Amino acid sequence: MNDASMSGKIFLVGAGPGDPGLITLRGVECLRQADLVLFDYLVNPQIVDHAPPSAERVCLHRHARDPLMSAQSVIARMIAEAEGGKTVVRLKGGDPAVFGHLAEEMAAIKASGIAVEVVPGVTAGLAAAALAGMPITCSRYASAVALVTGHRRGDNMASDLDYAALAKFPGTLIFYMGVGTAAAWSTSLMREGKPATTAVAVVQRSSWPDQTVVCCTLGTVAAVIAEHRIAPPAVILVGDAAASR
Ligand code: SAH
Repeated sequence: MNDASMSGKIFLVGAGPGDPGLITLRGVECLRQADLVLFDYLVNPQIVDHAPPSAERVCLHRHARDPLMSAQSVIARMIAEAEGGKTVVRLKGGDPAVFGHLAEEMAAIKASGIAVEVVPGVTAGLAAAALAGMPITCSRYASAVALVTGHRRGDNMASDLDYAALAKFPGTLIFYMGVGTAAAWSTSLMREGKPATTAVAVVQRSSWPDQTVVCCTLGTVAAVIAEHRIAPPAVILVGDAAASR
């Protein structure tokens, strides 16, 4: 067990979707006191620059399948540096609690006895909807929102998610990590009865200067992604919200 009086602290901070104005004031305060910043490659470097010049900066996760450092070694490094008295900021795209491996990190940090604070961020799906002018809830057509992963675990995507429930969901579906798997999840939703005519909006690089929005339908989304060569990061909104543009 470490001596808590000598230890530093770990901040798990949401950086928002990319625009440097979309981080919280608390997030900036944490960065200003950082000795070490470990940041996702999707994070805008202008946000990392809130850290003092003396702070060490480490870029992580160029690609989920080809990480520069494994998730386990990132956690081990954060804990070791904080045990050595450093203030460590783990800066994540969007919100740390949305598809951000928060559970594993919190469990390891709590077991180490190091002090930890989580700072929320603007998650990509909500930023994408707001910045594209699409209300994801609406008293007329969407009384709920679901954040859904398009990421496959293993080969059998259908076993990961209950598509029958998602097809009946009374609101907007927002797919993260769903660009490469669009053919699989869109087909699964249609097989479970979601109409091929359901409105879809693909929002790529939300809040960045080169943000693009492409509107299509559930039946055409996979072809549209291929045709427009849409690459990650993008979120895909499914439902009447996507038609409100
Ligand atoms: N914690 C992040 C999500 C991490 S998973 C958050 O809350 O936003 C990574 C996925 O987030 C990407 O595959 C993409 O679906 C989405 N994403 C991240 N930044 C984005 C952006 N600027 N525009 C659109 N999608 C984005």
